[in-house]
Amino acid sequence: MKATLDHVGIAVADIDAALAFYRDALGLDIEAPEEVTSQRVRAHFIPTGPSALELLEATAPESAIATFIAKRGPGIHHLTLRVDDIVAALAHLKARGIRLVDEQPRPGAEGALVAFIHPSAAHGVLIELKQAASPGANLAPKALAWGDLHLTSVNDGVLRLDGGAMFSVVPRPLWEKKAPADDRNRILLSMRPLVVQGAWGTLMIDCGAGDKMDAKQRDIYGLDRARHLDHALADAGLSADAMDVVLATHLHFDHFGGATDAALRPRFRRARYLIRAAEWEDATHPHERNRASYLQDDFVPLKAAGVVDFYEGDTAIRPGVRVVRTGGHTGQHQIVFIESAGQTAVFTADLIPTVAHIQDPWIMSYDLFPMETLAFKRRFIREAIDRGYLIFFEHDPLVAAGYIREKDGRRYVERVL
Ligand SMILES: [Zn+2]
Repeated sequence: MKATLDHVGIAVADIDAALAFYRDALGLDIEAPEEVTSQRVRAHFIPTGPSALELLEATAPESAIATFIAKRGPGIHHLTLRVDDIVAALAHLKARGIRLVDEQPRPGAEGALVAFIHPSAAHGVLIELKQAASPGANLAPKALAWGDLHLTSVNDGVLRLDGGAMFSVVPRPLWEKKAPADDRNRILLSMRPLVVQGAWGTLMIDCGAGDKMDAKQRDIYGLDRARHLDHALADAGLSADAMDVVLATHLHFDHFGGATDAALRPRFRRARYLIRAAEWEDATHPHERNRASYLQDDFVPLKAAGVVDFYEGDTAIRPGVRVVRTGGHTGQHQIVFIESAGQTAVFTADLIPTVAHIQDPWIMSYDLFPMETLAFKRRFIREAIDRGYLIFFEHDPLVAAGYIREKDGRRYVERVL
């Protein structure tokens, strides 16, 4: 494991006296304080080269910092180590029997993912592991040979959606263990299009949110595209102009917003855009329940530019690539089977958006027809387990692809990418 000291957290009882020392006496610059409401803490960062100091002030008596000071007095509270891949780091520690406070990473400040190691395992020191949101290893493109095809999972950055809406009837105490919420009740999600290359050319499934959202929308959805699709494609030795075909699972903005650029031109200049005719009908005739998800500027300009090819029903798009309608999420939502040399991979889009959604009833409130989702999912996941399909999770912040396994009636995902 490679780790870099990110910062040292210092619990402070009297912030004015502490500032008089760190700022005035030592002459260090102190950044504007950041409230971490969920922890009842105000953090003051002091950049000191590649690492920083963090003065931590309790904002309520039940704050962990207040408890710490009451027990041990003010002083060093934790060390934070920055790692490239926090999931791999936690798995590495767990395999060696190291006691962890957090077995799953949770969202930290600025889109980072964090997890604490128990002080008893670290000789009396509270250690926090941190993976910066971007460029994090979990967002780096990941490639895989798949029979005669070549698959590359790329990403268009992250967004945050309401945790309750992502799991509907599942109570928060259950889902927040798998997908921790931030101060605004939102969970971290990625947008991971998949590039499929064959002898017939280069095809991309979905294309992220793109860059047409204004500042208010970006704030509501916590859209962070500091590293976006163009970066990911470049890292993978690809580019937007390399795409011959762009295939939509459905036309929601977090899947197909990237189809047009800020000037409302086709963003993939050489590509044909393949859209299911009935999904186009639904998207261009939205109602009150789905209007916020179907943004007309994402797809209407494509038809005007003459770059759309419509198709009907479940069909083979290219050799080894075929679409299957699931319905549920939208009336015509579809998943994509990628088959070569007897192996099957499935891009499941919003049927199984994240690893947390592998239980049948864990279904989003965004779904227009949740009972249709349930029926399809129940059958599909059984088949995926029995036949060993590799599943691509479009919205999982950490796992791009993996196998759904079952042991003693419990499901889990064995990560591959
Ligand atoms: Zn989605």
